[in-house]
Amino acid sequence: MKPILVVFSGGQDSTTCLMKAIAERGAENVHTLTFAYGQRHALEVKLAEEIAKEQGVASHKTITVDWYREITHNALMDETTPIGREAGAPFPNTFVEGRNALFLLTAAIYAKSKGILDLMIGVSDADYSGYPDCREAFIRSMNETLNLAMDCRFTVYAPLQHMTKAQEWALADRLGCLEYIRTRTLTCYEGIPGDGCGKCPSCKLRAAGLAEYLSTKEPKE
Ligand code: ZN
Repeated sequence: MKPILVVFSGGQDSTTCLMKAIAERGAENVHTLTFAYGQRHALEVKLAEEIAKEQGVASHKTITVDWYREITHNALMDETTPIGREAGAPFPNTFVEGRNALFLLTAAIYAKSKGILDLMIGVSDADYSGYPDCREAFIRSMNETLNLAMDCRFTVYAPLQHMTKAQEWALADRLGCLEYIRTRTLTCYEGIPGDGCGKCPSCKLRAAGLAEYLSTKEPKE
């Protein structure tokens, strides 16, 4: 079985990816890479390390990008900026410029050094915030760029690409890890694991998706 490197934040999306990769390839073939890039909550990095350990992945690495905050500004990396969307802005102020390009390039460099050519990232363009680096066109283009940059054949897997949150919960359920993902992962902008604060946009999206999935699974009498 070919090894794969999962870009892993410890959130719902990347944990669902991780569980899918483990189900398909076995934990012994799955590696995880986490970025400490100045995101609001250091707990995110710690949780990612814990989940990777609990799931018995072949290796886990955390890379610190301590200069990111020096060159860009957004609400995700500055807890003094309220999260929201400015009038007319194409996406919310939690968008981190270039993040998935930076993550995938770094992941590919690291993966190649370990003899790994398969990468996985938990982006979705279905019912999210419209971040440009979550779109399929970007992922395809980045895959091609990585191949050209390092003269090899990477495959970037984005299994959640066209999934809504409800479909993502359905996948987690099929993988037998719905409760694990619900209670163990951190998606909340306020840094509260599991069901989170329930009020931030991320919690609302997550809860609405779960409610939608559960309503289809257990039709009310
Ligand atoms: Zn929240």
